[in-house]
Parts: sequence; C-alpha cells; structure tokens
Amino acid sequence: MSIRKGKNYPYGIHVNDMKYLTENLAIENMPLPGKVFISMSQHIGAPAIPVVNVGDQVKKGQLIGKSCGAISANVFSSVSGTVVDVLDIVNAMGQKQKHVVIENDGLNEEVFLEEMTSFEPKDLIERIGLAGIVGLGGAGFPTAVKLSPKTQLDVLIINGAECEPYLNCDYRLMLERTDDIYKGIKYTAMALNINKIIIGIEANKPEAIKLFSEYKDLDVVILKKQYPMGSEKHLIYCTTGRKVPCGKMPFDVGACVQNIKTMIAVYEAIDLNIPLTQTVMTVSGLGIKNPKNLKVALGTSFNDIIEYCGGKSENTVKLVAGGPMMGKALISLDQYARKTDSGLLVLEKNEANVDKPTNCINCGRCADNCPMRLVPVRIEKSVLAGDYMMAKKYGVLNCLECGSCAYNCPAKRPLVQSFNFAKGKIREIQLKESQREGK
Ligand code: SF4
Ligand code: SF4
Repeated sequence: MSIRKGKNYPYGIHVNDMKYLTENLAIENMPLPGKVFISMSQHIGAPAIPVVNVGDQVKKGQLIGKSCGAISANVFSSVSGTVVDVLDIVNAMGQKQKHVVIENDGLNEEVFLEEMTSFEPKDLIERIGLAGIVGLGGAGFPTAVKLSPKTQLDVLIINGAECEPYLNCDYRLMLERTDDIYKGIKYTAMALNINKIIIGIEANKPEAIKLFSEYKDLDVVILKKQYPMGSEKHLIYCTTGRKVPCGKMPFDVGACVQNIKTMIAVYEAIDLNIPLTQTVMTVSGLGIKNPKNLKVALGTSFNDIIEYCGGKSENTVKLVAGGPMMGKALISLDQYARKTDSGLLVLEKNEANVDKPTNCINCGRCADNCPMRLVPVRIEKSVLAGDYMMAKKYGVLNCLECGSCAYNCPAKRPLVQSFNFAKGKIREIQLKESQREGK
C-alpha cells in the first residue's frame, strides 16, 4: 500500500461543485418502473441488433440486443415482462436510436450468465464482453475491447476523481461498495496481466481515500480538486507523470484507465453472473424536490425518475443528462436511462447558463485555462467561417469538450457545441477523402 499526492497540473478550472446536495445520501434502489425503453445504442460503436420480437416474454438479465461487429456491446433486459414494441426514439443528441420496449410483469424473474470455470485473461475478457460492459464514466467504449490492447500495458489506473460538479454516484459507490470495486479492479488487472494498480481520488473525498488505503496492493494517489481532473490524459499525468501526446491514446504510454462503476459491473459479471442491467445516477440541482443517488433499471424514463424524486420546481430552467460541464441539455424528459448515465440535473436560474450568446469580445479568457492548451476563440472563428480544416489545424480534434472555455466566456459563446459540430464535419470530410482515394 502507498498513499501519495498526485502531480499538479496548472490548467483547468475551479467550479462551484454543488456536491453538498447529495454527497451524504446513500444510494437508493428506485422501484422497477411499469415499462422500460431500452436503447440498442448505449455504447460507442455499432448498435446492438434486437433479438426479441413484439409479444416475446423476457426475464431480467436476458439478452435482448446482440452486439454487432468488433466495436459494439450486448444489451440485456432490466425487467421481466413482455416486449410490447421495438421502435426508434430520438435521443438527447438528436439521433434516432432503436429501443426495445418491455412492459414489466412485476414478477422480477431473472436469468443469469453461466458460472465461470476458468479465469484466464481471455476468459475474463470474454465474460466482460458477454455481459455488455462498457466504460461507464460516460464514454461507453466497450470494455472488452479496451482490455485487449495490441501491446502489453504496465499500469491500470482507476478513475476516482469524479470532478464533474453535482455528481456523487462514484463517491457513494466508493463508500458503500468498496470491496466489490476492489474485486472488479483485481479481475481487470488479471485480464490485462498488470501488477501495478493506481487509484486516483480527488482530495475532497477523504473517506474514500481512507477506505482504499486499506488494500495493500493499491497505490492511492490523492489528486488536487480541479476540473477536468477525471479526463484520462490528465489523470494519467497526475498519477504517473506520463504525458499522452496529442493524437495518442492512453495505451500508447502503457496505461489503461477504468471507471469506478465499470469495476462494479466487472465484479458482478464475474462473481455474481449478472450482466449489466442498471446504472447508478445522481439526481440533483436546486430544482429537484428530493435530490438522490439512485440505482435505476436501464430504460427507466427520466420522467419517472424525476417523479420518484418528488418532481421539479416551477423555477426550473434547464434539465441536463450528466454533469453540468459535459452533460447534454434536454429539451424533454422523454429520454430513458442508459448504461453511461451518471446524472440527471434539474437546474434553476442561478445555477444554469441560459443567457443568450453575444458577440465575442476577443478577451482571450477561453484560452486561459484550457487543459489541452488550445485557443478556443480561434477554433470557433474557423468553425463559424465553415473552415473545418482550419479548426483541425488549431487542434479541435484534441478538444476534450470539457466546457472549461465556455465556463469562462463572458459572451456565453456555445463553444463546445461548435467544437462537437466541427469534429463531425471533419470526420465526414475525411471519410469522403478516403472513399475518393479508394482506401
Ligand atoms: S472567452 Fe468568449 S468572448 Fe472571450 S475570446 Fe473567448 S470566445 Fe471570445
Ligand atoms: S477547447 Fe476543448 S479542451 Fe479546451 S477548454 Fe474548451 S472544451 Fe475544454
């Protein structure tokens, strides 16, 4: 066991974290809803293909969507009941996604994965893939693929930073399920054949730091409270001193970063034979009557979640899926809990940016704290001019979409949306170019 302070990183921002609303609230199990709407695209990569039809009876834990292709993930039913529809629903990003709708029969009948008999790395990775586990910190990259790098890695880093304001689900899990997280970490290290394990925890979580310090084979690194400490590249630097160059990935410096919730999913899939059917999310904001940390069945409607938390105030001006910095603003609550959901925020005027953007005043504040050392104003001007390749030249592809620049902008420019849009355009241009060249 060792405990040490992490390296300092001079950029990033300090935000009002609002964690006090839920940090002392134990995770509650939300009762299963009457109906679930389960998306086939809860991960990066190809959507899962529905393997059930309207009228089929299913049990909790039964496969309803089969992974399709090298980067994809299985999807399982979160309730027992009857499939009543398979339909397209538009998500918070405006993309149409196939959903399987299941009416809950209230019997809670459950099926499990087969008991494992061999625990070689390949068996562990196969189980993690079978159970539909993806990066639950928000990225949604299939974990089995992440655990199959082409070169041998030498350090596993667990992300206990949870630097997004308001969110406390990782923190509560670290307090309430410490040993389950540890078992998930050990299986993940076995799958990667790695001995060196670091867990990075922000200094504002002393109880979590104390609990993980009890494990002799974990190296606990206390991180400065700073946003976006949870970004993979910054976490790797602050815990190991290794710098991931622009355009490179953590595996290029021998590291694999995993999230707290993902470690619990790994433990449950291997020791309890349970596939991924639920998520833990923080429901918070001054606009929600009873803020909570909640375990919810995948496919539960955000409307049901808000209602379970006592409803929203009349002064609510903004709803956000995720945290306020990297989450997505919702135009309606007709959205459904997904594997990667960690937060649902109900914000009132004094805690949300709802001001209309005004013209850029060239103050340069957006560049002051960009953790990737970009100059956001230059990128935005290129995007507004429709010059996406210039935006690329200015480094938009290295942008984390962390929102630090927009947070600092006095003109309230929608910088992150602009950068996200530019990335999509650049991908389109590159695809067309490679098709023209017959690649
Ligand atoms: S902070 Fe906002 S107003 Fe200032 S230069 Fe950047 S984009 Fe323009
Ligand atoms: S340019 Fe990207 S990485 Fe830099 S502060 Fe803005 S959102 Fe974050």
